[in-house]
Amino acid sequence: MFYIDTRDSSVKTNFKNAVMNGMNPQTGGLYVPESFPRLDNAFINKTLEPSFRDIAFNMARPYCEGEIPDDELMKIIQDAYPFSPKTIPLDRTSYILELFHGPTCAFKDFGARFMARVMSYFNKEEGSPLHILVATSGDTGSAVGSAFQDVEGLDVTILYPEGKISEIQEKQLSTFTGNVRALKVKGTFDDCQKLVKTAFTDTDLRKSLRLSSANSINISRLLPQSFYYMYSALTVRNRASLDTKIDEPAIIVIVPSGNFGNLTSGLIAREMGAPITGFVAATNINRTVPDWIATGIYTPRPSIETYANAMDVGAPSNYERICALYSLDEVKELLASYWLDNDGIKEAIENCNKKTGYIIDPHGAIGWKAWHDIKNGALRDVASGLKNDYNKVGLTPSVPKWANEVINNNAVGIILETAHPAKFGQIVYDAIGREPAIPERLQEVLIKPDRSIPMENDYNQFKDWICANLK
Ligand SMILES: *Cc1c(COP(=O)(O)O)cnc(C)c1O
Repeated sequence: MFYIDTRDSSVKTNFKNAVMNGMNPQTGGLYVPESFPRLDNAFINKTLEPSFRDIAFNMARPYCEGEIPDDELMKIIQDAYPFSPKTIPLDRTSYILELFHGPTCAFKDFGARFMARVMSYFNKEEGSPLHILVATSGDTGSAVGSAFQDVEGLDVTILYPEGKISEIQEKQLSTFTGNVRALKVKGTFDDCQKLVKTAFTDTDLRKSLRLSSANSINISRLLPQSFYYMYSALTVRNRASLDTKIDEPAIIVIVPSGNFGNLTSGLIAREMGAPITGFVAATNINRTVPDWIATGIYTPRPSIETYANAMDVGAPSNYERICALYSLDEVKELLASYWLDNDGIKEAIENCNKKTGYIIDPHGAIGWKAWHDIKNGALRDVASGLKNDYNKVGLTPSVPKWANEVINNNAVGIILETAHPAKFGQIVYDAIGREPAIPERLQEVLIKPDRSIPMENDYNQFKDWICANLK
């Protein structure tokens, strides 16, 4: 498989280069595979309960062909996924896809764990460790640190802003050992990012160390996220007639979105044959993409803090990939979009719990409310012109191609639950009056000793630390 650069279509590279470089340093462009091969119909049409690892292996294979042999790829998949996503019926026309069963209780485990093992495989040909530097404002750092823990040939340093992340997030970051460590920087997230970026462009430093990043633009984080879309869509297709009494429902997937990596992965799964009719992009007030869909004009802006903080992104990095794959008209056919403010998020957590008994986290809550409104007339109102103001919370006034499937009650929704609600205990408590039970793997982290290393917001000190400690 060749990988093309979003900014220069004459650039073609292989999987190894795309993974190890993350982005093209010459153009600043992102890599996309030149095609998305469909899985065999025989595979997709099986009506047995699908196996997640089986799907993962079959979907990953064409992207690694000629570079990672089948038996090695199978090992990578088995080692990356000792857990599975779970599809749970919520009510007659909705399912929840729980993506928090990995070690850090958020969907980023799926991408980060695959990426770590692929990087380790490719790094075996090198004589020295690969040093990963990541700046994080929360969830990414813990998923990456946990994914790379004890993975051969890789070494990870995480930078986070001291005092600016939640207690549970800080615990998750500061308790790594061995080849992973965290620096608590006296500064903001932007300061952390600046330190990392400066290190990447420091030619003196790069002479002695091999440096790489692990952020969400890496294609090896994006591809594995497509596995669970296929898995869930096949599961729902197989049992929807029993659960929902709709014979061949249109399947709509609702995706809480920030950088739009997860949604891009959904589009990839659909290209590869997942029986998905359409998507809903659900965002908080960082509504850059809903506004783009409503107006056709893309205006990136500074991010604003919200309860769904893993989606506080004003300039989504995967916008560039989506545009490399689809025209705006195609995007509007496939995608509805929806946004909520903080009051709406809290109300959604409360209403979801009242109506279904399910305790949902602030990110998933936007998805739940989006599907709830869409089923209860919001799409009809948009289609008939009754709602036409995109500045009002709720569904964006734009009519996807699949609107009639919903209006005629022939659709089921799969809502992605991207994090465990216990990671946002206080907000959930404020909404429903009780805290979700904390899973054992999060509890274990809470009693581990803090090993974070204090760091000034100063590049020279950061560089001195690197030279003294990374080998
Ligand atoms: C990262 C994250 C998101 C946003 O995912 P993108 O791929 O950036 O759109 C949503 N929910 C949670 C809990 C996250 O950690």
